[in-house]
Amino acid sequence: MAPLGNRSPEMPPYRPPSEAGSLLIRVTRGCAWNRCAFCGMYKETRFSIRTRAEIREDLAHWRADPATAEPDSLFLGDSDCLVHPELPAIVADIQAAFPRARRMTAYTRLHTLWRRPAGFLRAVREAGLNRVHAGLESGDPEVLARTHKGVDPERAIDGARNALAAGFELSLYVLSGLGGQERWEAHARESARVLAAALPHFLRLRSLVVLSGTPLAVESEAGAFTPVSPLTRLHETRLLIAELASAMERNAAALAHPELEIFSDHFSNYLWGDGDLIYGGVNGYLPGDRDLLLGELDEVIALAAGKKRLVDPASLAASGRAPGMYGGPAL
Ligand code: SF4
Repeated sequence: MAPLGNRSPEMPPYRPPSEAGSLLIRVTRGCAWNRCAFCGMYKETRFSIRTRAEIREDLAHWRADPATAEPDSLFLGDSDCLVHPELPAIVADIQAAFPRARRMTAYTRLHTLWRRPAGFLRAVREAGLNRVHAGLESGDPEVLARTHKGVDPERAIDGARNALAAGFELSLYVLSGLGGQERWEAHARESARVLAAALPHFLRLRSLVVLSGTPLAVESEAGAFTPVSPLTRLHETRLLIAELASAMERNAAALAHPELEIFSDHFSNYLWGDGDLIYGGVNGYLPGDRDLLLGELDEVIALAAGKKRLVDPASLAASGRAPGMYGGPAL
């Protein structure tokens, strides 16, 4: 592998919070889709594909630095490196550079997982990428269409199943509040339906923060989208978990793996009541922890209902006092 010369290695600007300790390797720049109405992550980045030679130079740089020569885990950015036509060879290069890393993960889109041939996905998996993170955001067809997610529920399910069939661990994201006041129940019920059919290993909950400058902010300002209240967001999460656990129990005999792990590993889920942090999200396994998680949510809902002032990152952003992001910054 050639040294870098005068340039610095490139790093993805975002990664999942669970990859905070990972070495970040940039395979593509920006988002090839870049149209989701709620997302502001890559608006300033023009999409491009990095060459295999460029990436190999970065690998040589990381290998030569004792601080990064033996990473425990690796994350490949930016938003969807599975669009890179040479990804199997690139993943093989990365695996050869860091043979002792126990995990290599990447963001992707469910549409990409639906569209990519099975042989391509298998080749990427066999080369060393072992987990993919993808935003489902909602299982409600109306919400997906309105937010320009670029995939419908049935293709999302097929995309998830393609990832599982190729042998990936699958982490899906759902964005609480994305249905707005108008569709929060449909958003919860349909997301549960799609999750039960897609059956990822991990469900990561995020809460909608309407970001200034996004199409959703324009809709919201025009009165065409009404953000949910913090209390409604809790009811929505409760409904999602109850419906998902019930669907998993009904289909128990047909499940490819018996449990789905829920993480609320993001500050957008936080809720303060009269100045105290009263909620940070739910974490556990479904269907086994169903009663525990629903009990936790019932307690928080009762607590929140008794508070005079509820504040969450969505309401802070609406008043211009908080940044919002969904990927987790590459801090
Ligand atoms: S949510 Fe993901 S797919 Fe959609 S625009 Fe943002 S980075 Fe791209």
